[in-house]
Amino acid sequence: MKKKVLAVILTAAMALAATACGSSAEAPAADAGTESPAGDESASGEEGAEAESASGDTFIIATDTVFAPFEFTDADNNFVGIDVDILAAIAEDQGFTYELQSLGFDAALLAVESGQADGVIAGMSITDERKQKFDFSDSYYDAGVTMAVAKGSDVASFEDLSGKKVAVKTGTNGAAYAKSISEQYGFDIVEFADSPTMYQDVITGNTAACFEDYPVMAYNIQQGAGMEMPGDVNESLTPYGFAVKKGENAELLSMFQAGLKNIKENGKYDEIVAKYTK
Ligand code: GLN
Repeated sequence: MKKKVLAVILTAAMALAATACGSSAEAPAADAGTESPAGDESASGEEGAEAESASGDTFIIATDTVFAPFEFTDADNNFVGIDVDILAAIAEDQGFTYELQSLGFDAALLAVESGQADGVIAGMSITDERKQKFDFSDSYYDAGVTMAVAKGSDVASFEDLSGKKVAVKTGTNGAAYAKSISEQYGFDIVEFADSPTMYQDVITGNTAACFEDYPVMAYNIQQGAGMEMPGDVNESLTPYGFAVKKGENAELLSMFQAGLKNIKENGKYDEIVAKYTK
């Protein structure tokens, strides 16, 4: 186990040293003599390719475009957020290299499913349904789904949605929740690809409400989004996890897991969350 991790770190270090020329930097034999007398064994273990990434040496991690405070572009045009910083801290702790691709939520999940990305961190809720297609890390954040309306709206409960249109974001837990109650409360669903467009549609009054993760909606309202959350929030707890395609990239998943544990223990995790939620 430890040997494998070392092999991965070495591979990552070599990849770093050879960033310019890409995939030929694999060299599974190069670490054979470096660490232990059982060099052959560790080399072949590595060749078993559990740690192989979609690009050869750098893991491709997919994420959402705008899902503040988890991933978003700040005023200085930097792509930042809790997910972004957690991933960076874990990669540093575990010594792997990665490229973060901001694709959108639905697209990020599809990229992992189709093998175009190795992992996804996107405020992605761990659900039983998704466990059929993905392997998840332990949860790193708790969230629930909430209804949000335009500031000053008459809509105060699900009953008030009767005969109206409701905005959801494609492929999300919020969308699934809204669909599950749409018949009961008699509203129609309109889908959006990203959160800001969905909020805008509610603010301009095209749709009467949207369903979004509570911590994200709370953050956006705090930042001045002209919306509010009437009624009950946090109905179902849907914790966030890092995910890989089911049965693939086990090494990446275990590095994430180990790194998460370390940054929780050394205070880095708390520091990151505090930075974005003060
Ligand atoms: N947590 C929600 C989900 O997993 C939404 C994630 C997102 O929009 N980035 O479905």
